[in-house]
Amino acid sequence: MKPLILDRDGVINKERDDYILTPKDWIPIKGSLEAISKAKSQGFYIIVVSNQSALGRGWMSIEDLNSINRKMQSTLAKFGGRIDAFLFCPHNPADNCDCRKPKTALLDSFRLRTGINYKDCPFFGDRISDIEVAKKIGARPILVNSGKANSNPPPDILVYDDLATAMQETVFNQTT
Ligand SMILES: [Mg+2]
Ligand SMILES: [Zn+2]
Repeated sequence: MKPLILDRDGVINKERDDYILTPKDWIPIKGSLEAISKAKSQGFYIIVVSNQSALGRGWMSIEDLNSINRKMQSTLAKFGGRIDAFLFCPHNPADNCDCRKPKTALLDSFRLRTGINYKDCPFFGDRISDIEVAKKIGARPILVNSGKANSNPPPDILVYDDLATAMQETVFNQTT
């Protein structure tokens, strides 16, 4: 399996200050679904890893999250794409769990279950915490500016306007 790892909010869909709690709140960023679908057609195994603290805060139920994911999958399917694995931290930050990014338990346990190898695989995120996770698991971090603005990205990190541009420059230009 050739993994490609994505954060969700601010990368695939637009970030909202008041959280994404219903399918109606989930609005894809221009070009992101086409890019994921193209990667899928090139044989990538698409993993989304996401902090969903609205669950732990009691603002959203697991059924709400499942219905948001169903909308993501059905919208992606129109472009021929699919998310293969959706890993999420359901905790409140105050829980101090092991799985909330920038911790790595979600991806570590997935690797133990599947034997997947993250070495140098692309990892797209909009926050420094995503970059930290990517570095810890040996993936290749790529920052996008379509979500939370990062005023001071680490100088060694590639930064692009959005996922479509980032994947064009770092994935598709390499494999074609
Ligand atoms: Mg994000
Ligand atoms: Zn957690």
